[in-house]
Amino acid sequence: MYNILDFSLDKLKQWMKDNKESEFRAKQIFDWIYKKNIWNFEDMSNIPKNIREKLNNSFYIEIPQVVDVYKSNLDDTFKFLFKYRDGNIIESVVMKYKHGNSICVSTQIGCRMGCKFCASTLGGMIRNLTSGEILAQVLKAQQEIEDRISNIVLMGSGEPLDNYDNVMEFLDIVRAEYSVNVGQRHITLSTCGIVPRIKELADKNLQITLAISLHAPNDDLRRNMMPIAYKYSINEVMDACRYYINTTKRRVTFEYALVRNVNDNNECAKQLIDLLKGLLCHVNLIPVNEVKENNFKKSSSDNIKKFYNMLIEAGIETTIRREMGSDISAACGQLRRSYLESKNDLKGV
Ligand code: SAH
Repeated sequence: MYNILDFSLDKLKQWMKDNKESEFRAKQIFDWIYKKNIWNFEDMSNIPKNIREKLNNSFYIEIPQVVDVYKSNLDDTFKFLFKYRDGNIIESVVMKYKHGNSICVSTQIGCRMGCKFCASTLGGMIRNLTSGEILAQVLKAQQEIEDRISNIVLMGSGEPLDNYDNVMEFLDIVRAEYSVNVGQRHITLSTCGIVPRIKELADKNLQITLAISLHAPNDDLRRNMMPIAYKYSINEVMDACRYYINTTKRRVTFEYALVRNVNDNNECAKQLIDLLKGLLCHVNLIPVNEVKENNFKKSSSDNIKKFYNMLIEAGIETTIRREMGSDISAACGQLRRSYLESKNDLKGV
């Protein structure tokens, strides 16, 4: 049995052909799934019964179940806990803005990157999500909010470039007209910096935004926060970014989580400026979300402001991330963990 959401239109057409059915059925089926939110073959009234039977024998449509929805009291942020058919739980966050709705999707169940400040990685990685499972987060969220999603960020649990093939397939399908039809420029992929994959992604020459979780301006400090920094130096990451910029002509975003007494002093700001000066980039400063399992504390608002001002004065385009949904633990992996804890189901997570 296949999850039909893992199939592209071409692949489903081929399947129809192999099963002696007309190829145009593939588009009809996807219209039901993507345009009408009909997620069982029985209700696809223009598909003949014998084809529906064949479909039922070969495919399922995996839409995760909503285990819980948390709505922020501070802003229009919704956090969904989704459960897949194998029982695994992930989280997706939807942010409603005036200019459109944005979703932050998870790409893996758990994560194996080990960043010290992040809740998603605490129990390691359970498994990759398939392209269809990532896509289904978007479909289910659209149904729940009764509105279209126009922006996607791959910034939930998991490292997208550690699940490269499935994530690339997801990007292909979610952008397609027959599917969700999200524009490339409305998609951001965030990575802790897996250098060879960044280059591979650049070679695909997509117009998506690449975001790099930098978080530190030198290797020593970065290694204290992110194990991946032992594998790839900041120089190598920067080379890959320059390659991405030169190939795609797209501006790269650098994420920098400000942690009190760790990476928020003047010296760090100076080093960061030296690193990024002249690059087509944007810095997103994120007051670190405090996670109970570690000691990373948020920088003071004074320090955040000072850090921000130094970057701006040096001519580096910078924003301070608004803390959306901070009352509902909207940071990576926090909700899944507390849910599993409450169910006493941590199984090493
Ligand atoms: N693995 C990818 C994407 C998922 S994490 C990556 O590393 O980019 C999405 C972003 O949230 C990353 O920038 C990550 O470093 C950041 N993040 C994780 N935990 C955080 C926390 N407690 N506070 C602030 N940002 C955090």
